[in-house]
Amino acid sequence: MSVRVRFAPSPTGFLHVGGARTALFNWLFARHHGGRFILRIEDTDRKRLVPGALEDILDSLRWLGLLWDEGPEVGGPYGPYIQSQRLEIYREHAHRLVEQGHAYYCFCSEERLERLRREQEARKQPTGYDRFCRYNVSPEEAQRRAAAGEPYVIRLKVPLEGTTTFYDLVHGEISVQNRVQDDFVLLKSDGYPTYHLANVVDDHLMRITHVLRADEWIPSTPRHILLYRAFGWDPPQFAHLPIILSPTGKGKMSKRVLQEQGRWETAVFVRDFREEGYLPEALVNFLALTGWAYDDKTELFTLEELIEKFDISGINPKPAAFNYEKLEWMNGVYIRRLTPEALAERLLPYLEALGIRPDRETLGRAIPLIRERIRTLREGAEMLEFLWKEEVQPPLADLVPKGATPFEVRAWLAAAREALEALPTFTAEAVEGAMRGLAERLGVKTSTLFMAVRVAVTGRRVTPPLFESIALLGRERTLRRLEQALRRLEALAG
Ligand code: GLU
Repeated sequence: MSVRVRFAPSPTGFLHVGGARTALFNWLFARHHGGRFILRIEDTDRKRLVPGALEDILDSLRWLGLLWDEGPEVGGPYGPYIQSQRLEIYREHAHRLVEQGHAYYCFCSEERLERLRREQEARKQPTGYDRFCRYNVSPEEAQRRAAAGEPYVIRLKVPLEGTTTFYDLVHGEISVQNRVQDDFVLLKSDGYPTYHLANVVDDHLMRITHVLRADEWIPSTPRHILLYRAFGWDPPQFAHLPIILSPTGKGKMSKRVLQEQGRWETAVFVRDFREEGYLPEALVNFLALTGWAYDDKTELFTLEELIEKFDISGINPKPAAFNYEKLEWMNGVYIRRLTPEALAERLLPYLEALGIRPDRETLGRAIPLIRERIRTLREGAEMLEFLWKEEVQPPLADLVPKGATPFEVRAWLAAAREALEALPTFTAEAVEGAMRGLAERLGVKTSTLFMAVRVAVTGRRVTPPLFESIALLGRERTLRRLEQALRRLEALAG
């Protein structure tokens, strides 16, 4: 039987790195076994839908390169792959279970259920439906009341005794006693299926062989097994993936938790990592190693290697902490593996986001200056931005280094302008010679002088190497920027 797996996100928010990791493991598993990777959108909880979430999920998966063999936009033999377009299928299946005596109509009102819950809480009993309609409403009466228009839900008749057991490929055997499960709802009164019903029906109809999904669904799985049995179907195999925790190993990877923990990184959605300038291939490599390992040392894998080596036995059942430092390091490695031309190409959207339309020739010459020192594409774009900006406006606090006065800096920049103006050729070597000579003549530490010039010319304290940067910017613009800085300092020094 050939492998068929699915990623089944609900469009209730942007694609989270945890979701992306689930998608990746499914994708790798499918590719490893020469199987199919299916994308299914679980959008039957209408209250939780978020506008734009579906588009974000599709875009993010495509950006990561996790293309689906069947699913929205590409179609496939078991479609439609969006659950809200399959409502009739779920209704038909829920009613089939009623006819076969595995499920029943429940007419209990919200108020009754609420009262029941409160009573159970007061008595410190587990909450759950008390099966009133299972015991007190005959199938004939149920048909009559439903035909008369009384609203109802359909509930599964959960066996009152025994245990439900399944073997999880990551966690081993998991067993739950049936008496702790209540008769959960399959079809809601508005005719929409619950997650449990739609998920099981679709996994069966879409011929899913392996369900790789987040740990949080473990408690639902015994319910799913009961449903498979009620339908008379064989369940797929299950592998529940450990959750990804925040870098401290405590708390979820959510923006709120990260902020509470005082982290400067708050990227949690795939789109955040994209905006910050991570390469999709680096993020994929990194996510593959968050909760999975091949051995205890190999960190860099090409996609082909991941496909070849990925295996459920390498999944760690314990939660994994998200390691931003490692991701940054890895991204730097992947950046340096790009050819200079490819790096220039990848920087373009990030420069554009800063409002810059660079000329290719300058950009090409700037690449060697940053290639070794950036860890993200955004960092690269920010470092190079000064080459094309009309004007730079450094904060005065940066322009006047610590321990210097505006008056002194003004004198240094004026001298720098003269020295650079007088250079016969404007090469990096010539600029360097002039600047070093100047520091000596002025009796200023080179680091102090160079910082003042760097900030005046580029607007930033962190830049590519100074002399190359100045040479690349060109004499005319360098002098103009020194001039502008001088004017600001004059206003300040009076
Ligand atoms: N729609 C569920 C989710 O958003 C899917 C769970 C599953 O894979 O069964 O995570």
